[in-house]
Amino acid sequence: MEKRPYLGYTRAHYRSVHIAKKCAKYFYRFQGWDEIRPWEKVKGNTMAETTETMETAEETKELTGRIFDIQGFSVQDGPGIRLTVFFKGCPLKCLWCHSPESQRYPSEINMLKTKCVNCLRCVQACPTGSRTVDIKKDENGNPIEFNYDINLKTCIRCGKCVDACLTQALYWCGTDMTVEEVMKKVRRDKPFFKKSGGGITISGGECLTQPDFAAALLKQCKEEEVNTAVDTCGYVPWENIEKVLPYSDLFLYDIKQMDSDKHKELTGVPNELILENAVKIAENGGHFHIRLPMITGYNDSMENMEKIRDFLLPIKDSVDLIQILPYHALGTVKWERLNWTDAGTEFKTEPPSDEEIQERVKFFEDAGFKVIVH
Ligand code: SF4
Ligand code: SF4
Repeated sequence: MEKRPYLGYTRAHYRSVHIAKKCAKYFYRFQGWDEIRPWEKVKGNTMAETTETMETAEETKELTGRIFDIQGFSVQDGPGIRLTVFFKGCPLKCLWCHSPESQRYPSEINMLKTKCVNCLRCVQACPTGSRTVDIKKDENGNPIEFNYDINLKTCIRCGKCVDACLTQALYWCGTDMTVEEVMKKVRRDKPFFKKSGGGITISGGECLTQPDFAAALLKQCKEEEVNTAVDTCGYVPWENIEKVLPYSDLFLYDIKQMDSDKHKELTGVPNELILENAVKIAENGGHFHIRLPMITGYNDSMENMEKIRDFLLPIKDSVDLIQILPYHALGTVKWERLNWTDAGTEFKTEPPSDEEIQERVKFFEDAGFKVIVH
């Protein structure tokens, strides 16, 4: 048998490197990062800078969308088993937002405190002193509490703190991906779509704030016979919706509050455009799963439900389903991850009771709608 030349490495060494590479590959795949490129950080921490960055990117290379997560095996974002692609950036600021990491357009650094081992490597690695830690000590001088902070005004988004973090407690949220990169994940899940009647759902954030990428992705899905759903708040120019309409099998459409002033208090924007767009989608043959977030004390009154019913009745043939989404407090942890101290961490209300939920289910069923609770 031919002998391998001795290069200073043993066969065991080659094998361990091979195993380590495989482990890393599966680790990244498990994390959903196999096609996402976390090292491609996006410049800009204002909307203007981001738009400029994205336009430059689009001029010089392939069209990309800014994505903050892709989740497979989702069963709540449309029919069957779905792959949900979360776009970054949203024009609304709902008080109860469950994914605050989706709100801002630029990519940003999140911290998962449970993974942090308080090694302080991130603080030491920061060239601008933007990442800081406040350490509380007991009477013997032993550290008992670490509070990390990041000064977004001085942070230059170099990513050195993320690179320094060995436990991946720090991670980038928001990566630019091409249609083909997303399609690789779609194709991987196609067997599950076929068996379950599922497909892709584009969500966010607000996916229709990136309409060209959304349309290109959905078009490719339709060419490959994948069912498509668009999860939208509806607060976008009609032209954005028109771009995706030919490639959208279903719209998951939020109706939060019929009183426009109250809608503005809850979400930061009035509701006229949202309602107008819903009617236009129906007139153009679109189909809906209407989503009603039920936020105790904010939009759950029967008066609001009656107004929603009256709005939906004329477009009833387009409404395949009403989904009632009772409030839960999951988003609070995510606000903390982002080091945000605004409304989201302070917003508190009780989840609605089962009786209250069932009363609303019956109300819409009596009006002839199919209703489910998520
Ligand atoms: S991204 Fe760079 S400047 Fe910003 S906190 Fe991390 S290391 Fe510091
Ligand atoms: S480098 Fe990572 S693990 Fe270490 S203190 Fe910073 S966030 Fe925590």
